[in-house]
Order: sequence, then structure tokens, then C-alpha cells
Amino acid sequence: MYWNWKTIIEPFKIKSVEPLGFTAASQRKKILEEMHYNLFEIPADKVLIDLLTDSGTSAMSAEQWASIMRGDESYAGARSFYVFQKVVREITGYPEVIPVHQGRAAERILFSIIGGKGKCIPANTHFDTTRANVEVSGAQALDLPVSQAWDFDTPGPFKGDMDVQALEGILEKRGKDIPLVILTVTNNSLGGQPVSMRNIRDVSRVCRKYKVPLFLDAARFAENAYFIRLREPGYADKTPEAIAREMFSHAEGCLMSAKKDALVNIGGFMAMKDKRWADRAREVEIVGEGFPTYGGLAGRDLEAMAQGLREILEEEYLQYRLRSVEYLGEGLRKHGIPIVEPPGGHAVYVNAKKFLPHIPPGRFPAQALACELYLESGVRAVEIGSLMFGKHQNGKFTPAKMELLRLAIPRRVYTQSHIDFVIEVFGELAKRKKKIRGLKILEVPPILGHFTAKLTPV
Ligand SMILES: *Cc1c(COP(=O)(O)O)cnc(C)c1O
Repeated sequence: MYWNWKTIIEPFKIKSVEPLGFTAASQRKKILEEMHYNLFEIPADKVLIDLLTDSGTSAMSAEQWASIMRGDESYAGARSFYVFQKVVREITGYPEVIPVHQGRAAERILFSIIGGKGKCIPANTHFDTTRANVEVSGAQALDLPVSQAWDFDTPGPFKGDMDVQALEGILEKRGKDIPLVILTVTNNSLGGQPVSMRNIRDVSRVCRKYKVPLFLDAARFAENAYFIRLREPGYADKTPEAIAREMFSHAEGCLMSAKKDALVNIGGFMAMKDKRWADRAREVEIVGEGFPTYGGLAGRDLEAMAQGLREILEEEYLQYRLRSVEYLGEGLRKHGIPIVEPPGGHAVYVNAKKFLPHIPPGRFPAQALACELYLESGVRAVEIGSLMFGKHQNGKFTPAKMELLRLAIPRRVYTQSHIDFVIEVFGELAKRKKKIRGLKILEVPPILGHFTAKLTPV
């Protein structure tokens, strides 16, 4: 059902609640100092509103909790597996369904089979764990986003699209080294922007021409499907389920972190058409994840995922979901905060390079903003910039291409007044932005250093 009122309401009521972590400003100042200005180190009960990630932070529905009680914990052939398999087959159309404990487990299994030295895996943009798993296998992870993706100021309907010409170029040149092409829907690493059906179709056509399979990284397939409904001609009357089904029909398989669009706190899967790849994946899975009918999960987790996958495609939910993220974007814009335009499906990304031009990339403007946001209000967000992607090599520092602060919205967790509060806080930050100071690194480990780096104000 499409809701025609101006006020888009949360399509749920609340039956179980958790207190927020209220703290005093003096306490937060002390915590920041003790935790060396790294927000990953802050205990979550000292966070008021947690916009660190939308991964595994969803609120489950009453039906999901009920399905937890129906979980069949048999080691092999559990009833819950068949329930799960049926739902995934219905949504994706892929016959081979392999559960895993989260998205990166699917990545590790897949690339251990098809990756390796000399291979190249093109994508619109690889998510960081996807890139890491491709690279650990010895292969090269190649990002081919459309050029508009890098223009943060100019909105566009489908800035998550892949550059089809560039893809064709690389397939022409290195086709035999390319075992797979990936489309990440929506494109998490570059603003949570959607991929159009047209682009999925075009990428698919090029892949078939060169006989290379296309997989979707489907972590946010439902959000992507709803963007297609809202923005792409010809889809306004289609259900999210029909659109999702069409998206999957153009690919040969998918990887999915169920911690995003399956509304669960843990889980994932891979699904595909090719039985040979699936059989090899199951062999690898048994060694590290578990027997292929549970894949590192409990039977109850499979039930909760199956139910979450049904709920995520409800129109009222998706309309509310995209609107509530857009609402945050509009509020920030009113205070003159530069964001990646337009707001994404799961998050709003503040362009810290533009908001704090007095802080150079080497002084981590987005991390400085994250700390200031926490200090001001107890709201936690995550830096996607030079702390996460900058490279230290032989005493030289190469900054990242972007300095963003991601405000990710957990699914069904916060209400509009929580978001209004976040907007109000940014209004205060905008007033005194000139006083926000940069940070410098005291200590940083070489791999995924942003999780544990120690910093201090300059
Ligand atoms: C989160 C995510 C993954 C990895 O999934 P995990 O469940 O965190 O292991 C892969 N791809 C995308 C696009 C993601 O957002």
C-alpha cells in the first residue's frame, strides 16, 4: 500500500524498549581523551544515538522473535533451512542457496574458489570486506563507478551505476583473467547510491557477451529496488518484490550480508544458478563455516532471516525507510551542512572536506567532526576518509579521495524525534565549525588501522 500523506509515519508500533545512554558533556570529554579520539573504543552504553552502522543493528519484529522459537536446531537438514531456502529462492530465483554467518564469509568462500593471483574482479565499487577478500586471494579488486559518483554536490538518480564502457574495455583487454563481475546494490562505499535497472541490464549484457558471470552484492537489494520504483521510468506500478526479482534475474548469483536488508542481527548467504560453483562452495564451507544447511548459524537465525526477507519488501516499510533517511539529509541541508547528494538508502554522508575546509586531510576533518559530534551530544557516527583509507608508506602520507562522515540509520530503531535531535546538534556544530580542530595520529596499526588508531587534537 502506498501512503499518500505528507507525513510518512514509522510503519510499526513499539512493544519492547531499551534506554538510551545519557552522559554529561564532562563525562564525554573524559571518555574521548581516554579512548584516544577513536569512537570504536567507546562502550555503547555511553552513546546516546548510535549511527555508527546499519549492520546488524536492526530491530526485529514480533514475527521474527516468534520465528526464533520455531527454529529447528538439527545439525543436518533442519526444517529451518528449508524455510529459509524457499524464501531466498522465491526472491532471487536462484536454485542454489548457501547460508553463511555474515556477508564476508560468503566473500571468503567465493574468492577462495574463483580468485587467485593474476585474476581481476571488477565492481561498481567493492565494499571494504569484499575488496579485502578479493585481495587476500591474490586477485585485484577493480572499482569502475560512473564518474558522477565522485561529484558529491550534484544529485542524480542512480549514482551507484557502473561505468559500462570501462567494464567493456577491461573485459576486452583481460577477459580471461576475469572470473566474475560484481554490482553492489546499493553502493555503500560511495554514498549508499542506488544502481538503476537499466545499468544492471547493460552490465549483464556486456558480461554475457564476454561469458563472464555477474553477481550482485545484495546487502541492500530491497532499498535499491525501491529507489528503482521511485526514480526509474516504467517501475512506478511494480511491487518491490517484482523489481527485486527482476534485478536478480539479470545476474547469475548473489552474495548477501543479511545484517542489512534481512533485518537480522547476524546472518548472510550466497545464492546462484550454477550447481558446480555451489558444490565447490559447499565443500569450502564445511571446513570453515559448518554443514551447508546451517552455515555457521543456528536454526533460529535462519528462521529470523527468512521472516526478515519477507518483511523488507513491504512497501510501507521501504517508503518509510528511504523517506526517513532523506528527512535527515533535508534537515542537515537547512543548516548549510554539505552532504553527498542525494541522501543514500541507509545513510547520509556529510562532506567534511567542504564543511571544515580549514582542516587539511592529514588532520582528519571527518574524524574531527565525528569526535565533535560525540562531544556535543553523545551521537556516534563513522569516518569514511583518510583515517580509514589514507595510506602511510615510507614516512609519507597519501590522503583518501574523500573525507566523509557517515550517519547510518539502523532499521526500525530510531524515531523522527531522534533524527530531529541529530539535526539540531548539527545546527550547533555549524555555528562553531571554525573552532573545530583537527587530529593527529599517535599510533596506528598497518591493517584496518582505523578500528584501533590512537589520536590526539592538534
Ligand atoms: C556489510 C557489507 C558486506 C559485508 O558483510 P558483513 O555481514 O559485514 O560481513 C559486504 N558488502 C556490502 C555492500 C556490505 O554493506
